[in-house]
Amino acid sequence: MVASEAVPYAKTGGLADVTGALPLELAKLGHDVILLLPRYRCLNESGRSFHPVCWLRVPTPQGPVDTLVEEDILLAGQGDGRLRVWTIQNQALFDRPGLYQNQGLDYPDNLDRFSFFCRATIEVIAYLRSSCRWNTDLLHLHDWQTALCAVYLKTIAQDRQDVAAPEVRSVLTLHNVGYQGLFPGGQFEHTGLPLSLFNPEALEYYASVNLLKGGIIYADYVTTVSPTYAREILTPEFGFGLEGVLRNREDRLLGILNGIDIDRWNPETDSYLPANYSVSDRAGKMACKQSLQREFQLPETSAPVLGMIARLTSQKGLDLAATIIPELMAMDVQLVLLGTGEPDLEATFKALQARYSHRIGLRIGFDEGLAHRIEGGADVFVMPSRYEPCGLSQLYSLRYGTVPVVRKTGGLADTVVPLIPQARHAGRATGFYIEADRADALLAALRNAVKVYQDRPIWEGLIEAGMTTDVSWARSANDYDRLFVTLVREG
Ligand code: ADP
Repeated sequence: MVASEAVPYAKTGGLADVTGALPLELAKLGHDVILLLPRYRCLNESGRSFHPVCWLRVPTPQGPVDTLVEEDILLAGQGDGRLRVWTIQNQALFDRPGLYQNQGLDYPDNLDRFSFFCRATIEVIAYLRSSCRWNTDLLHLHDWQTALCAVYLKTIAQDRQDVAAPEVRSVLTLHNVGYQGLFPGGQFEHTGLPLSLFNPEALEYYASVNLLKGGIIYADYVTTVSPTYAREILTPEFGFGLEGVLRNREDRLLGILNGIDIDRWNPETDSYLPANYSVSDRAGKMACKQSLQREFQLPETSAPVLGMIARLTSQKGLDLAATIIPELMAMDVQLVLLGTGEPDLEATFKALQARYSHRIGLRIGFDEGLAHRIEGGADVFVMPSRYEPCGLSQLYSLRYGTVPVVRKTGGLADTVVPLIPQARHAGRATGFYIEADRADALLAALRNAVKVYQDRPIWEGLIEAGMTTDVSWARSANDYDRLFVTLVREG
């Protein structure tokens, strides 16, 4: 498993939750998994300790670079899963304050950074084979940062005896097609690939280098994180220019829904929460709500608290939320927002918070504990995403009894059952849909949710159905297991 971030080491978004949980689930199913990560600076503050494994000589366009590989062992909370985590050190490239950017600006040498990481991955395969007699059956890659591994396997590493590349299958999982790893065409040689691959049939995209495109073309299989998103990305609206490339691989494209780490996100044991609760005893949820109101200096009333936690980007549709604040404030609700991202959106919400300080709580920044406390203390979770490959926050909301109001798209449509009569009578409804990418549709959905909130039996039904929904990794890990085993057998 090759990833550019994973909990509990480094996180900027949902990707890290997936790559922190899935390999352990696969280990529980009997797979021998090694997770490879860059040795970012934040790993030193992760509270984990690492032990040297080996030095590897990694080829780069500037010549070979010696890199230290270190190991940490993660154990599954339940079951006997055990995961080796190996980190790839390169102080010049990874020992920095951010993962991909600093103060909102991408590092200008990201192509060098992740080319290096992918080339180091190939050297790890060779090392495992020659020094540990451990043959890599399959590489599971995630997003543009690791897509080059699939390209290297089929090109510059293809004939290396020590890698045995033809025996290694590669699966690339797309967590968000909106992020493709685009770089100026003039930087192509930084990848170390022959110039012949800089053409529209391979990594070129309108004179730029497109790493995700390369991965989609060269991986043996492509997956994405929900069945609906797997269909959506074949269309111009969601494919971000790669819909044609994806349609070419449609027979090797599968949507597998993400799960969540149900040990880390468990309202019965969550130590970030001021009180714990379960589906059968929800008194603690009220305590969480009051504590959240206090934390944000909001009056401790029974008004529904709407929670939002998101990267502040246009993908998440929070600009729509900003435009309806005056109408929303005319209703008896409170709003709590945790997020960081685009400076304009941050400024908009700061101004709104200043204007409605007794009704809106705002925290600009990244705060894992507060994310848990919002999931625990809010009544409603708002996700007006324009597109959402899977989305994890709505899954946490279901588990924490916080009713999700979501745009009907991607994984949100696959995981939230809207309150329509049929679903309600079957006891399956768990939330509300925002039907269109428009502020009035968001307002209508929130009005409806706030109205239903007053009808306690229906509301409690939504909470119970949500809290008892299976959002664990177990089911999805089985899907990956089946795919991996099939690919390795087909050879
Ligand atoms: P994405 O991966 O597109 O950001 P997801 O819903 O899949 O969206 O996952 C978001 C994850 O990141 C969730 O675990 C959420 O709690 C977390 N998160 C997002 N923003 C913040 C923040 N400002 N502080 C803490 N956690 C955050």
